[in-house]
Amino acid sequence: SALLAAAAITRSYGNTPALRGVDFALAEGEIVAVTGPSGCGKSTLLHCLAGILRADAGTITYRDQDIGLWSEAARSRLRRTEFGVLFQFGQLVPELTAVENVALPLLLAGSGRREAREAALGWLDRLGVADLAEQRPGAMSGGQQQRCAVARALVTEPRVLFADEPTGALDALTGEQVLGEIVRTARDQGTAVVLVTHEPRVSAYADREVALRDGVVDPTGLGLGVTA
Ligand code: ADP
Ligand code: ADP
Repeated sequence: SALLAAAAITRSYGNTPALRGVDFALAEGEIVAVTGPSGCGKSTLLHCLAGILRADAGTITYRDQDIGLWSEAARSRLRRTEFGVLFQFGQLVPELTAVENVALPLLLAGSGRREAREAALGWLDRLGVADLAEQRPGAMSGGQQQRCAVARALVTEPRVLFADEPTGALDALTGEQVLGEIVRTARDQGTAVVLVTHEPRVSAYADREVALRDGVVDPTGLGLGVTA
């Protein structure tokens, strides 16, 4: 069965329907791109799948458990231990250096200082930004900051990475490079990825594409031409 699945989920903001009955499934280690025009519900779907937002109806199961029935505390623990989250920008703590930022999730999870620092340095190295370890975000380019954010999202070796337009604030070339690194490092350790993206060449990165339109999965499917 799927690692993570949504069945017939709906979600509105006041009178504005954002999701109107969406089914979704993610297999272990699978990389799925969620695409579609602005306002079609991509962010809402990602937030529901990640347990950040509650769906109004329908079920979301993670490893066969209905996480909609869980308390906020249990959902928050799930996000800290099994999930990684990556947004467009603004995720690094400006007062902390790169290595301190990347070590933070491990420290919060109870790792020792030395162990957390070693792991953080290893991840900065994997993302090609080891030389920036002692820099603060304000001294880095957008691409460098986002590479640090990728390291921070993956340092806990999550089972699922949720990435909401992670390259949306970068120029086209840097965006493509960073997206390639997200996919490469996630694949390396078998992390599944739900990737909301506007990158045109999504077929180069994702195993499968789910195209949304007006809060439902577009039945014609292949919005940008990914073949499963
Ligand atoms: P996308 O990520 O595809 O741009 P969203 O999930 O952000 O789509 O939004 C889906 C719909 O829900 C849009 O009509 C949007 O305006 C609306 N929406 C999203 N977030 C909110 C919110 N916090 N309050 C009110 N409406 C919202
Ligand atoms: P995205 O780039 O994911 O589409 P948006 O720029 O649409 O994000 O939305 C950014 C933030 O504003 C999100 O937290 C979203 O929930 C909220 N938002 C989006 N649409 C609306 C809306 N119509 N009314 C209020 N908040 C909204």
